[in-house]
Amino acid sequence: MKLLEERIKADGVVKSDQVLKVDSFLNHQMDIGLFRQMARQWRHDFDGAPINKVLTIEASGIAIAAIVAEEFGVPVVFAKKSQSVNLDGTVYSTRITSFTHKREYDVIVSAKFLGPDDHVLIIDDFMANGCAMEGLVQICEAAGATVEGIGIAVEKGFQPGGDSLRAKGYRVDSLAIVESMDSETGEIAFRE
Ligand code: 5GP
Repeated sequence: MKLLEERIKADGVVKSDQVLKVDSFLNHQMDIGLFRQMARQWRHDFDGAPINKVLTIEASGIAIAAIVAEEFGVPVVFAKKSQSVNLDGTVYSTRITSFTHKREYDVIVSAKFLGPDDHVLIIDDFMANGCAMEGLVQICEAAGATVEGIGIAVEKGFQPGGDSLRAKGYRVDSLAIVESMDSETGEIAFRE
């Protein structure tokens, strides 16, 4: 998506060869007009898919997913970070290794909000190693829900998450795929 690529080039900061900062428009301060354009792109790309739920993960996926859900006219559920998986009735849970914080945590989704009738579009801001998205796919499988696709704002194509999920047969629709980035020059190149 040209609009997102141009915004990343203009306002993204390459913090290291592994980490891209886009907190001025995507995951700290948020440009909702841009989110709306992104949501419309996914709506177009997934036209005809029987999506009846959007699923994301706390915290930075929530705002993007909320706009996407409104665009699709369906509810949005976010997987919650949890200390205790057994507090609140039946839950599906998975353990995720955080890319940015390098630690493990559990996330849960209540069985009340995800089940066999659901056709899910999973949304997140970034894909790196794919651990967060693998976790949400596992939660959908445990719930008997169907994963219609995975929509990512920024995939780092030089890290394995996106291509590994594609190889497993999932439809991964990343609006910008960073092929390489250089923290010294600040240069960012996108996959065609
Ligand atoms: P993964 O589970 O794919 O390894 O990492 C995905 C999660 O890590 C995303 O939800 C995102 O919050 C965070 N993340 C991964 N790479 C980056 C990055 O380059 N910049 C930022 N801001 N967040 C990232």
